[in-house]
Amino acid sequence: MTFPSDLEISRTARLLPPDDVGASMGIDPEHLEPYGRTVAKVDLEAIERRADRPRAKYVVVTAITPTPLGEGKTTTTVGLGQAFSHIGRQATVAIRQPSMGPTFGIKGGAAGGGYSQVVPMESLNLHLTGDMHAVTAAHNLLAAVIDNHIDKGNALGIDQHNIAWRRVLDVNDRSLRNIVGGLGGKADGTPRETGFDITAASEVMAVLALATSLADLRARLGRIVVAYTAAGEPVTAEDLKAAGSMAVLLKEALKPNLMQTLEQTPVLVHAGPFGNIAHGNSSIVADYVGIRSGDVLVTEAGFGADMGAERFFNIKCRNSGLTPDAAVVVATVRALKAHSGRHKVVAGKPLPEDLLAENPEDVHAGAENLRRQVQNVRRHGVSPVVAINAFPTDHASEHKAIREVAEEMGARVAVCTHFTEGGKGAIELAEAVDEAASEPNDFGFLYPSDATLTEKIRTIATEIYGADDVEIAPAAAKKLEGFERHGFGNLPVCIAKTHLSLSHDPKLVGAPTGFTFPIRDVRASVGAGFVYPLAGEMRTMPGLSSAPAVERVDLDEDGQVVGLS
Ligand code: ADP
Ligand code: MG
Repeated sequence: MTFPSDLEISRTARLLPPDDVGASMGIDPEHLEPYGRTVAKVDLEAIERRADRPRAKYVVVTAITPTPLGEGKTTTTVGLGQAFSHIGRQATVAIRQPSMGPTFGIKGGAAGGGYSQVVPMESLNLHLTGDMHAVTAAHNLLAAVIDNHIDKGNALGIDQHNIAWRRVLDVNDRSLRNIVGGLGGKADGTPRETGFDITAASEVMAVLALATSLADLRARLGRIVVAYTAAGEPVTAEDLKAAGSMAVLLKEALKPNLMQTLEQTPVLVHAGPFGNIAHGNSSIVADYVGIRSGDVLVTEAGFGADMGAERFFNIKCRNSGLTPDAAVVVATVRALKAHSGRHKVVAGKPLPEDLLAENPEDVHAGAENLRRQVQNVRRHGVSPVVAINAFPTDHASEHKAIREVAEEMGARVAVCTHFTEGGKGAIELAEAVDEAASEPNDFGFLYPSDATLTEKIRTIATEIYGADDVEIAPAAAKKLEGFERHGFGNLPVCIAKTHLSLSHDPKLVGAPTGFTFPIRDVRASVGAGFVYPLAGEMRTMPGLSSAPAVERVDLDEDGQVVGLS
């Protein structure tokens, strides 16, 4: 029997009405705003009203350095959430809203997979309640205001060669990366070179994710730096009088979306910031709802622990004031084999035969990556639990190899089969997480807010990535000085680098050492509240492949969506 597709499994779901899902979290129906029959938005008033409820344990799901296929963080987040109900605990899951770029591109949707999914997966992966579109609209409104300001005399003295604000769209469209706007005649605006990023890369998306209230959202939007004057002074969305209208467009989008898993575990889906030029975590307000809901709040942080988890700890938790109780580090046989340097995994291609053959030796040979990522979690005083996300092609000896490595490090470890079995496949993991989260907590940030930006970069590169040294290009160093002068020096940093290596070079697998970490350029998301140094060319507008998912998605005779994965 062939294993059913994610969409087929998703169709079999027995969905609770949103009011019942809310009730299971102790949310009053008066705080739920239904969107269709299966999704509701949670009113932010619910946060204050429930402030005296007990605080749930806060668990972040992170991973070893992934292959381009992803190692199952979302699937494990969902599976673990489901598993808690099998051990008599009530969990809430919090994840990002997927971008439609990858949904129609190579990677497919991001609802989890198999019997650990958020449903209905079509709603999750497409539009949902329109938050992505609200972010797109707010972002592009600000872009229109900038061009209009220049056209109407440029009273703020914006340097047209120093405008940081581009436009966004939730479509993978490489031909929009670089464009010239304002073409035509005198009445058609001022021509200038600009371009588009995908909506997930918008600073507005990061603002939505990091805002702690509606008033804080409004204030952050005002602080967005869109350009500089000829004298090098920052020009903000507040200076352009655009932030109020942007906040109005985002008012509904700031309410977290309530969905459920295949096993009716409540799921808060909210915001979807990029994991390289932004912090890659779902929203703070969703966590404020979830943290007062049950026994455990399980949330996912993008990419490996060097990226998503580091930012979760040092950017998101610093903003929210919430402290984590445990971290799950997802590990797979295929990724550890790839970290041995003996195999290569390519996106959109089947796994090579030699990688699939039983070979615990190769797993051991790649294990240094797991060790480093476990240390990265511990560096923040958080207890790690290694989740071995089992694939049908794995061998028991290979799981044993991962178990040995985790145990050598004194970390709890569990093999999980939630993809094929749902929540009951992650019972051992849920028990281990429950224990880890009950241990005394020693959480601390990697660096203090008042360290200089350069010190922060150095600390992350040497202590988390394993670099010997950092080399900051002269132009970037000059910009960092400028940021300190403008008062952005107390912000945390979000280093934009490849997610495929602990280093800046995707070819360096395992746990590379002896490298110098290069900073080419540096930018500031002042509204969102971080500075992001760039350690390589970052794609902020993906393109489509030669056989993208868009070619397979369609409607069947009954008007049902087919081909989503
Ligand atoms: P991440 O969140 O880490 O990027 P996902 O959970 O989205 O990873 O999983 C990546 C892909 O791998 C998805 O298509 C998912 O359905 C699939 N997948 C995850 N875990 C398993 C598993 N144990 N067996 C088979 N496929 C899996
Ligand atoms: Mg994911």
